[in-house]
Amino acid sequence: MKDQSETHQLVLLPGDGIGPEVIKAAETVMRTAREYLHREGIELSWEAKPIGGAAIEEAGKPLPEETLSAAQAAKAVLLGAVGGPQWDRLAPHERPEAGLLGLRRALSVYANLRPAALLPGLEGQSPLRPSAIQGLDVLLVRELTGGVYFGEPRGRSGESPSRSAIDTMAYEEGEIRRVAHVAFRSAQRRQGRVTSVDKRNVLETSRLWREVVEDVAKEYPDVTVEHQLVDSMAMLLVLKPHMFDVVLTENMFGDILSDELGGVVGSLGVMASASLGDDGPGLYEPVHGSAPDIAGKDMANPLGAILSLAMLAEHSLDLPLLARSIEGAVKEVLRQGLRTKDISDGSQGEKVIGTREMGERVADALAQNLHSRQALNATYF
Ligand code: NAD
Repeated sequence: MKDQSETHQLVLLPGDGIGPEVIKAAETVMRTAREYLHREGIELSWEAKPIGGAAIEEAGKPLPEETLSAAQAAKAVLLGAVGGPQWDRLAPHERPEAGLLGLRRALSVYANLRPAALLPGLEGQSPLRPSAIQGLDVLLVRELTGGVYFGEPRGRSGESPSRSAIDTMAYEEGEIRRVAHVAFRSAQRRQGRVTSVDKRNVLETSRLWREVVEDVAKEYPDVTVEHQLVDSMAMLLVLKPHMFDVVLTENMFGDILSDELGGVVGSLGVMASASLGDDGPGLYEPVHGSAPDIAGKDMANPLGAILSLAMLAEHSLDLPLLARSIEGAVKEVLRQGLRTKDISDGSQGEKVIGTREMGERVADALAQNLHSRQALNATYF
């Protein structure tokens, strides 16, 4: 049983497009969780703040001070999505995306966790044959605040036909060490295997990466570690994705491989992510964007946002059983044949429902799940 006086303050950043719709559905699930947590002496409260385009309209900038200070003071942040065509003409530092990048930087969330697993009933969404994806359950751990996306010098010079451009891939040992610990600790809670991905045959940063990962591995004798070159890994993820447990890699390789994994799973709307730092709040967001093409139509799939909430419960609230219960509730509604349009293939027994109803059905399944577990064990949390 948790400390009786515990209170968890969360900040919701709905953002733009379908962001507010999927966050509203996640809120429906949160209300059910709050009711059950209250009985265990744990209080859950939250407030919503603007970010992205919504913040530009409301406060003239994509990350207002009030939003940032609320996020920094919170236990965790759940974000919908930012961006939309109406803000595309703005300068890069004024655009909605600048709000999200600024938030990630301000929260120092250096480890991005993106699970890729097949949810029951969604196997047909993957473009791969069933034998390749059976048992697929990968956690990609991507370094998020270093590497070539941030290295200096960077820039362009010269005039056509002699233009040149430079980016710098740089890593310090400490940056590698801290994200490696996140991967090894994650593996301890899973199947105990880490695959570290680099390009050691060519890159100095990768040689350092591998040395430091080997070093960190010595502190985790219960976890096995293997190394793959990124080109070979790109192939293995489509040939044998079920072979991997935790995949650890640097920023750019992780950016590319995580989208590849998204393609392997085949359903963007159900993918969740967590971005974690050392001791500040974690940032949780569905992998998808603001989907302006379906915004306001009650068509968006809220499961990525709801599964991000499950990650929040596990990593920021230290409530792994609540996390498992939310995941169980999502699987239950899928087993019942309920689908948003994006994950429906028209099979018999499927029923297409909207964003709001999907949130309500998951909340119902969560309530049932928690109720039956509580009957078994009153100190469930
Ligand atoms: P997107 O993820 O918004 O949409 C890609 C396609 O997937 C669209 O057809 C969309 O309808 C569909 N889709 C996405 N999420 C869905 C969901 N939950 N349910 C059902 N269908 C879903 O990517 P995009 O179209 O390239 O970008 C649109 C906007 O989102 C842009 O402004 C982009 O900058 C922004 N974006 C934001 C984030 C973020 O906030 N983290 C991430 C990616 C893109």
